[in-house]
Amino acid sequence: MDIMTDDPKLADIIHPGQEGNVVLLGFPYDTGVEINGGRPGARHGPEKFRSWIRRYGTADNPELDIDLSGITLADAGNIPVGLPLDQSHTALTRQTASIIQKGGIPFVVGGGNDQSYPNACALLDSKPDTPVGVINIDAHLDVRPLKDGQAHSGSPFRLLLEDSRFSGSQFIEFAAQGSQVSREHARYVKDKEGNIIWYSEVSRGDAAAQAFRSALGRLAWECDSLFVSFDLDSIRASDAPGVSCPSVLGLRAKEAFEMAFNAGAHPKVDLFDLSEYNPLIEEERTGRLAVGIFYHFCLGVASRKGA
Ligand code: MN
Repeated sequence: MDIMTDDPKLADIIHPGQEGNVVLLGFPYDTGVEINGGRPGARHGPEKFRSWIRRYGTADNPELDIDLSGITLADAGNIPVGLPLDQSHTALTRQTASIIQKGGIPFVVGGGNDQSYPNACALLDSKPDTPVGVINIDAHLDVRPLKDGQAHSGSPFRLLLEDSRFSGSQFIEFAAQGSQVSREHARYVKDKEGNIIWYSEVSRGDAAAQAFRSALGRLAWECDSLFVSFDLDSIRASDAPGVSCPSVLGLRAKEAFEMAFNAGAHPKVDLFDLSEYNPLIEEERTGRLAVGIFYHFCLGVASRKGA
């Protein structure tokens, strides 16, 4: 490490490019949020996320005894702006797949949660004969039907569950809240053999991080490749106010970091996306939280055996 400082930071060890153990990619679109009736602003997520990276996280963490300079971190930039939504999704699938095919783990920052189906497609395209498992950490199920034939931030996991390459039994909805989920949509997930772990099942004590670890383990039993999708609105509004749809109840920041670390540390996690950071609603607290999730994910990856 050629950093001429006694305090190297996360930002100091991120290099531009598509090749690295973890590769940042931005999806600066909130068209899908607007179609779903949510408040716009998440298109500014990637840009503000990067500005908070410059203010967060030591590269060599003495508390956890993990040095991020043991892995390579890259920033592949953003999907170009100004595309129609379907073309932005196609471009996202292509870029995310390109990172996976170069051996990196994409960490995709939205933007709206509609990014998660194009991201899942990148994994399914890149690993055609591999059983893929998906965990969606979200207050919502995001299995709404398309609107006028268009994908939106409420539909990515319906598109995934309708994709013949994916088996619903390898899908877990994590920390969903019954006050924000229709019975019909919950039934739809179950009809597809998907699993729902309700927020109330993981809201006591340290249950969330523990349940998340066992959810990863359960999927890893049958799957060789895992995608963890994290919607910031699964975190309570006092910790993450800057999301399109804040919720007073939800995961705590500490749990979000532990889960991000566990996702990074799991040897089968090949893809992570983070959705719905909306800096127009609140920038700093949520921005630091989002970057903290990235930081802990990277620490997890650095702790993988052989990393
Ligand atoms: Mn969502």
